[in-house]
Amino acid sequence: MTLKFKDFCKVMEEVDSTSKKNEKVTIFASFLRKLSESQLPLVCYYATGQPFSKTSENKIQFGWSSFMNVIYQLTSRTPDDLSGFYGIKADFGSLIEYALLERTPQPKSLDSYFGQRETKELTIEGVNKHLVKIASLKGKGSQKAKQSQLSQSLRNASPLEAKYIARIITSDTRTGFRGGLLLDAIAEAFNRSNKDVRYAYMVLSDIGEVAQVAKDHSVDLHLLKPRIFHPLRSMLASKAESIDEVLDNYKRLVCEPKIDGFRAQLHVGKNRSKLYSRNLEDVTHAFPEIIDSISSDLRKQLTPSILDGEVVALVDGKPVFFQDLSTRIQRKRDIDISVKSIPCYYYIFDILLHQGKSLLNTQLMKRKEILYSSIPDRKNIIKMEHKILGNKVDIQNQLQEAILNGSEGLMLKDPVSEYQAGKRGKGWLKLKVTLPTLDLVIVGAEWGHGRRTGWLSNYHLAARDNNEFCVIGKTFKGLKDEEFIQLTERLQELELSQEPYGISVQPEIVVEVEFDNIQESSKYSSGMALRFARIKRIRIDKEIEDVDNIETVRQLYQEQLKRQKRADKA
Ligand code: AMP
Repeated sequence: MTLKFKDFCKVMEEVDSTSKKNEKVTIFASFLRKLSESQLPLVCYYATGQPFSKTSENKIQFGWSSFMNVIYQLTSRTPDDLSGFYGIKADFGSLIEYALLERTPQPKSLDSYFGQRETKELTIEGVNKHLVKIASLKGKGSQKAKQSQLSQSLRNASPLEAKYIARIITSDTRTGFRGGLLLDAIAEAFNRSNKDVRYAYMVLSDIGEVAQVAKDHSVDLHLLKPRIFHPLRSMLASKAESIDEVLDNYKRLVCEPKIDGFRAQLHVGKNRSKLYSRNLEDVTHAFPEIIDSISSDLRKQLTPSILDGEVVALVDGKPVFFQDLSTRIQRKRDIDISVKSIPCYYYIFDILLHQGKSLLNTQLMKRKEILYSSIPDRKNIIKMEHKILGNKVDIQNQLQEAILNGSEGLMLKDPVSEYQAGKRGKGWLKLKVTLPTLDLVIVGAEWGHGRRTGWLSNYHLAARDNNEFCVIGKTFKGLKDEEFIQLTERLQELELSQEPYGISVQPEIVVEVEFDNIQESSKYSSGMALRFARIKRIRIDKEIEDVDNIETVRQLYQEQLKRQKRADKA
């Protein structure tokens, strides 16, 4: 039985119409219960605003401006008709719904759009086919081909269906379910415990697959193991304010340098190894020197194993982050040359699967023991050193040493903590000596002047405020010319509307931002503004979910006030 796409949309509207979490979960759970095994994953991806599983190789690569071109062709709407709508509603899906809803004098080619449509009804399976087709179109002329493919699917879509297609294609974070709610709905639908479903998600990383295994009662969810070549989400660290604060909560800590590189998971199989980035992308191609360091003997000895660590380059023996890492990953640089001039190294600090045995529920110290006894150092593979410390002076010394050796600070880890994939808990704490940075998203850009003429270069930076983004600063500082060029290209693809200052863009590009301080300000609706913001790095490894919250900005501001008061008293 096929599933009508309109039934999915209706259920999503129902979910949206209530603000009560329990009701959202129950409505969706009863919908999930009716679905077949093959429909479950599609519905779960679409309900979280993704066209495919996060681990899928399929990528839509289709910007909002291309989407709008299709709308202009299908209706007699013009950019002027729609300008201002996004600013008011800040919701692309609703803009598309509105664009198709309000009858314009003479629809150009959406022939019988408002009459009895003779065309076939869209099914969830049909939408999937369209999306796979759009993703498969690559290379020269592909944007045009993608547009005509989208045009075909929208021809058969009602305004409401178009709204959801728009949200899915542009991975709109506003779509119905965020984070844990869908997991709760899966648990309720298939009579599983929330804990088991969350564990399954931690191990499988794929929400669609989680729904499938939850439905299948022959599977014991808590016995699921990580599988090689299926990346897990990384365990994340919380910010630590001071060593005192950390020692208030822990007697002893595993202390490691916090090196500033590129998080990567190394999967070692019998015949091959693969590296995955923090956002679960296969980046094996970018680091041949690391992959080649794992001999076939080592592979045989370890298989199957999953390691966690950081990719860095070494300059004068010190680990450094450099832009080349990103350009290598985006295949924008001749990798062979880069491997020779700036070889990369993999610093391993954790092990999640060893010879097929899951270590997720094993305490950190035991995991370290296994790591140390089973992995020999290789040419481009190094085990990260750690110390177990329990007093302030020792930790301070360790911090100083780490900084001298080129690290950003220390990672302080609870020795008995389990590996919590995808979680930012208190098991791992990061202590930086440099000023805190914020991960923000670019929502607008201005055309540059003088040396920057022709580049979009003054970026409007926003923090997350629930499902919206609020601007807290602007900057044109911190980037190299080649990065300006790269961003100008990307931002134009993400253009939402022309504005007096330049363009507003779909929030997608995450940047790590340094600043001198934070001020209260009436300039932005958030009431907060960064002073002297500058971009430290374009975070191709981070996603919209990783963007810092406005609450974090306010907290940093409060801490800054406290520091200022202490300084005034001194
Ligand atoms: P942040 O990106 O500021 O949230 O810091 C967390 C990141 O620090 C991790 O995702 C890793 O990429 C990186 N990192 C560097 N050294 C370590 C370490 N020893 N243990 C864990 N993560 C580390």
